[in-house]
Amino acid sequence: MMQTLMSANNAGVGLPPQDRKAGWIEVICGSMFSGKSQELIRRLRLANIARQKVQTFNSALDVRYGKSHIISHDLSRVPCHPVRTAREILTAVLPDTQVVGIDEIHFFGPEIVDVCETLADAGRRVIAAGLDQDYRGQPFEATARLMAVAEFITKNLAVCIVCGAPANRSQRLTSTRKRISVGASDKYEARCRRCFTR
Ligand SMILES: [Zn+2]
Repeated sequence: MMQTLMSANNAGVGLPPQDRKAGWIEVICGSMFSGKSQELIRRLRLANIARQKVQTFNSALDVRYGKSHIISHDLSRVPCHPVRTAREILTAVLPDTQVVGIDEIHFFGPEIVDVCETLADAGRRVIAAGLDQDYRGQPFEATARLMAVAEFITKNLAVCIVCGAPANRSQRLTSTRKRISVGASDKYEARCRRCFTR
């Protein structure tokens, strides 16, 4: 049976199934300053307390606070493994890993969806956090597609810095038109629908 599961779900990626346990995908999405990384860190810590084997990944592009930890804006942190491509996650996940955390999923292309599905199919709990919209208010494809196939979705809202309403947009304060521009409060602020300008 082990071999059947292995060949059905994981051909070529070297991931043994986790004793036929069902895996699943949790998505934590929202705007900048909505506490996504903080929520990811909270869930990973609870799994750690339960002595589950946890591995956490982020994009090598995310250099905001150093590459070897996921760090939230309130400076809580967990160790993580930076990867250049989503596929690298599959080769880095160890056979006995039960929980896989992935931060800043919008930094990866749509291939992150297949990677998360492969991990969940092989019995892992996948917790993925990232922006749902870019600085123009357009959906990030990777996050949108992952939300469609996920079992659980948490959408966090920030507080609009202009009017105090619930904020689901990230207002860019610089003039760059690159879709990914790494930064925090130096480059972005949370805005509601009404106060957001394209
Ligand atoms: Zn507002």
